[in-house]
Amino acid sequence: MQNNQSIQKNPQAIVIGGSMAGLLAARVLSEQFERVTIVDRDQLPLTAEPRRGVPQSVQPHVLMTKGYRVLEEFFPGIGKDIQAAGAVPLDWGKDFLFFQQGSWMPVSETAVGLESYTCSRPLLESQVRQRVKQIPNVEFMPGQRVVGLCGDRNTIQGVRLQQGSLAPQDYFAQLVVDASGRSSQAPQWLKDLDIAPPSAMVIDPGVGYATRRYRIPAEFQPRCKVLLISQEPPDQPRLGYLAEVENQEWIATLGGYGQHYPPLEGEGFLQFAQQLANPAFYQAIAHAQPLSPIRAHRATANRLYHYEKIELPSGFVALGDAVCALCPVHGQGITVSALSALVLQRWLQQPQQRRSLSLKDASLKGASLKGASFQKQLAQSNAFPWAMATGFDSKFVTTKGAISPNWVAKLFQGYTGRLSERALHDRELQLQFIEMAHMLKPPSVLFHPRLVWRALF
Ligand SMILES: Cc1cc2nc3c(=O)[nH]c(=O)nc-3n(C[C@H](O)[C@H](O)[C@H](O)COP(=O)(O)OP(=O)(O)OC[C@H]3O[C@@H](n4cnc5c(N)ncnc54)[C@H](O)[C@@H]3O)c2cc1C
Repeated sequence: MQNNQSIQKNPQAIVIGGSMAGLLAARVLSEQFERVTIVDRDQLPLTAEPRRGVPQSVQPHVLMTKGYRVLEEFFPGIGKDIQAAGAVPLDWGKDFLFFQQGSWMPVSETAVGLESYTCSRPLLESQVRQRVKQIPNVEFMPGQRVVGLCGDRNTIQGVRLQQGSLAPQDYFAQLVVDASGRSSQAPQWLKDLDIAPPSAMVIDPGVGYATRRYRIPAEFQPRCKVLLISQEPPDQPRLGYLAEVENQEWIATLGGYGQHYPPLEGEGFLQFAQQLANPAFYQAIAHAQPLSPIRAHRATANRLYHYEKIELPSGFVALGDAVCALCPVHGQGITVSALSALVLQRWLQQPQQRRSLSLKDASLKGASLKGASFQKQLAQSNAFPWAMATGFDSKFVTTKGAISPNWVAKLFQGYTGRLSERALHDRELQLQFIEMAHMLKPPSVLFHPRLVWRALF
């Protein structure tokens, strides 16, 4: 952690979007800028409420262990706060029941150190927002929509803001960070300034979610806190995810690949649940009391903007879902945003960026904040989660834009397939997979000689 008193700071940064990626970026920017302004089109409640700008907020949100640990690094003690607000602590080795390839994965009797919390998305976001509100040099500008960027082909100098139907106004800054999520308009805004926008890669598995909240029955004997009956490529498109959340409730989600969309009325929802590969999900909810309507979400394609490949003007960067939006089935988005914030923190601490802080003329400060190198570092950070999500989703023949694996990828898939079969009966191996899925370890851990031996013999 830097000593904020002793470093020279850039005057102003603007973050577009006050959701997870924007909040974490603001936390990091506050170390290097005198003032950080978070602009959001929504009103940003401090309480745990779903909101329009984040339509996915009524859907389940897994917080992976890596994501949770980064949150703790940025906001020490936040786990305790989340728990005090109602979140349920869990250990992914002990409290997670996972049905895959026709079997239950073994579960540990005791915690294995893969800690996190299960709660609703609004609860998590509101706790992070409350922490960011406490940072003295961060301010919020709610109810303001960014409609464009100010600047030219060489430098972005701010954003164009619009409140309701009033005339847009320009707001200037040394660095603009786009964290406006999946619906980001930044490629169009760059185009409006005559800047070639990034190309997008889209791999769409056609996944639809349907989610309902239930009261957990008093007589229910929990064997776990989170249950997943997994989809299985190439021909088992259905999945069921059930998680304990605050207020003694379950969030129950059905999902289908290849436009096998779960129905949105009660009877059809239960029938779809009965068609899952295992009856445990259906049995749990069949007699539980529903507390909400069934809510759908279908904007789930994997989409990656290649900002690292364009001539990016200085004074602008993009991160979070605005760059790398992943199919939600893999539960990675918040963790990827947290890792993006870490990349931003490291980038801002690099000598080239620090040099721009020592410029005498305040108006020139930040002029050398060339985001291109940030986008290259971010692309490296996003590469593994992107490969994990799109590699898996491409195994369904219904996936649009599916990538066909080259021989290296085929070899890797064959090898990991064999390892995952072994993992059904090998707890240590299975934990390696969980740690990799939680982005705690790189895929190279699977090539440890001990594991290669187990896969082969
Ligand atoms: C159905 C679904 C389920 C998911 N499940 C999980 C999960 O289990 N685990 C997980 O880690 N991730 C999950 N995700 C992904 C997760 O929601 C995102 O990765 C995470 O919220 C980070 O996104 P973000 O902050 O980049 O963007 P978002 O959360 O989408 O937020 C964008 C923000 O920008 C604001 N905004 C947009 N445009 C403008 C504008 N022009 N002007 C001003 N403000 C603007 C919006 O109001 C919003 O506040 C899921 C996503 C979906 C769709």
